[in-house]
Amino acid sequence: VKKKGGQYAKQSVPVERAGVLGAGIMGGGIAYQSASKGTPILMKDIKDEAIELGLKEARKLFAKQVERGKLSNEQMAERLSNIRPTLSYGDFSHVDLVVEAVVENPKVKGAVLAEVEENVSEDTILTSNTSTISITRLAENLKRPENFCGMHFFNPVHRMPLVEVIRGEKTGDGAVAATVAYARKMGKTPIVVNDCPGFLVNRVLFPYFGGFSQLMAAGADFQRVDRVMEKFGWPMGPAYLLDVVGMDTAVHAGEVMAEGFPERMGSLGGAGSEGKSAIQVMFDNERLGQKNAKGFYAYE
Ligand code: NAD
Repeated sequence: VKKKGGQYAKQSVPVERAGVLGAGIMGGGIAYQSASKGTPILMKDIKDEAIELGLKEARKLFAKQVERGKLSNEQMAERLSNIRPTLSYGDFSHVDLVVEAVVENPKVKGAVLAEVEENVSEDTILTSNTSTISITRLAENLKRPENFCGMHFFNPVHRMPLVEVIRGEKTGDGAVAATVAYARKMGKTPIVVNDCPGFLVNRVLFPYFGGFSQLMAAGADFQRVDRVMEKFGWPMGPAYLLDVVGMDTAVHAGEVMAEGFPERMGSLGGAGSEGKSAIQVMFDNERLGQKNAKGFYAYE
């Protein structure tokens, strides 16, 4: 047991019951993953339609497992029942760990975290799936910052093994230990990183996207660049990966990275003819990637 900020943080709470705030792409994926590995999870959103979408996605993923003969219908029903949809904080007092996965807006996240803190027990660990907001900054909204850390999943949650566990300035060892243990229970590979713009993965990935943008500005063919990077051994090239990430997300995260590391990033790399990066041009033309079926590649 370690003393942090005048409070005793728990060493490592085994997470028996979890909660997720937001039933979107990430929240729905996190609920599915937790449920499929046997940890019941409350999934809270503010809209019925969002809950329905999250549940539909989980049902689809479980149904695929049944089709492949990996799950029986009874097992599917049992695992699905591990996801408890809700529009209220009613049952959050029994939850050991909460993953906040609402929209990427510091004000909304700050308010949601402060609200959930009022509705959980003193020992509950709160985490955020933010991609770009400082964990230390988000902790400023909390009375028990020692019980808070980042838990950054990657999309699609059920396929991507990595989870970044982010230690903010006031994060206690107990919060990190519980989050690492929960990530492992979900079948993921957690790595503990310090708080900085982009954490670890995006800090490496965004200069790479910048390099790709510079090549585009120099007149390179994106399909050729993709093929080259695939031959180099990457599962997909940068243009296809940007389609998966989404141009809106890439532009936003690129701005955060450029602010954090101006000497390394500048903007998202090479300016095109209008002084904009290729990624910005795609975004301005509403070519967001797979999410709207139009990106570097066309879908459908
Ligand atoms: P999304 O827009 O698909 O889902 C957000 C959900 O939050 C919506 O269903 C919305 O109704 C709900 N919501 C809004 N306010 C709420 C509140 N007060 N309480 C409960 N629910 C609320 O977004 P997403 O892509 O799932 O992203 C969620 C978070 O995960 C963001 O912080 C994002 O940066 C992060 N993230 C996203 C990805 C990705 O590739 N999409 C990857 C890693 C991390």
